[in-house]
Amino acid sequence: MQQHHQSDKSSLTIIIPCCNEEESLPLLFKRLDQLIASDDCSIICTILFIDDGSRDSTPQEIKQYAGPVRDIILSRNFGKENAMFACFEHVHTDGIIIDADLQDPPELIPQMVDLWRQGYEDVYARQRSRAGESWFKHRTSHTYYRLLQRFTGATIQQDTGDFRLLDRKCIDALRRMDEVDRNSKALFSWIGFRKIEFLYDRDPRAAGKTKWNYRELIRLAIDGITGFATMPLRLAAYCGVLASLAAIIYAIVIIVRTLVRGIDVPGYASTMVVVLLLGGIQLLSLGIIGEYLGRVFTQTKHRPNYLIEEERVSKGEGDDETR
Ligand code: UDP
Ligand code: MG
Repeated sequence: MQQHHQSDKSSLTIIIPCCNEEESLPLLFKRLDQLIASDDCSIICTILFIDDGSRDSTPQEIKQYAGPVRDIILSRNFGKENAMFACFEHVHTDGIIIDADLQDPPELIPQMVDLWRQGYEDVYARQRSRAGESWFKHRTSHTYYRLLQRFTGATIQQDTGDFRLLDRKCIDALRRMDEVDRNSKALFSWIGFRKIEFLYDRDPRAAGKTKWNYRELIRLAIDGITGFATMPLRLAAYCGVLASLAAIIYAIVIIVRTLVRGIDVPGYASTMVVVLLLGGIQLLSLGIIGEYLGRVFTQTKHRPNYLIEEERVSKGEGDDETR
């Protein structure tokens, strides 16, 4: 079921997924207060905090914040991707996604709003520099996006995170994609709409440490590819065809040689190589099929992507729309 909200560009919600951010939140509140107090940000009607199963005092911190807040507390940690999806399903206006750790400076919001008023529907922030990130992380993410782009055929925005202003149209589109194992970066590209980038310098984390480790990043990377492209399956098929061709040619060679020169037993090395190589290709292909089958399996269960423990709307919130 699709809802059509035509935005009149009169109100905006700031969406902030938080997970164990008790140290950064006080700093964030200060910066948000300054922003809301400034004239050019009267458009901001709500700040939507989503607590993604924090194990520290993040939910209590959020409750103490006096601004126009809505907060949603998830029943456990569902990951940032699902937390953002929960926001898309609960936000009633156009929205801006920012991180709670102040890596995305809220002061850039007026600039994004300007671009949005000019008619752009997805104003995304591209990182000019990434302070506090290792060279290795930078290289791997760069290579990954090139790969994802090749696999999906969609233009994937490079050096771009989730920091962006999404018009109502984009949010409605994203809500319709309630798939499991989400990869938002690819989804943002996939939906299309009028996009524009602006450059910014990504600050290091204000406090605490990143929630991502390499294992999770690899998981997300695989989800990005298997969620969008069947290319790896085809690749497995190509490998199979090549291996079969090679096997046929080699079989002919062996038969002819046996007929001409008689039985020639030594051949341990070549047998081993062929067996190992074919075994390797088979296992790899099975693995690839398994990845896709796993996706199909989780998708067919139709489980919700997140569960809400508590939802709270503060008095300051001007938006009383109910759904
Ligand atoms: N986050 C979340 N759920 C998670 C992990 C992270 O809601 O399971 C939030 C986190 O609180 C932060 C944002 O997502 O506001 C980005 O996370 P982080 O800073 O750890 O990622 P990075 O900036 O290093 O990519
Ligand atoms: Mg961060």
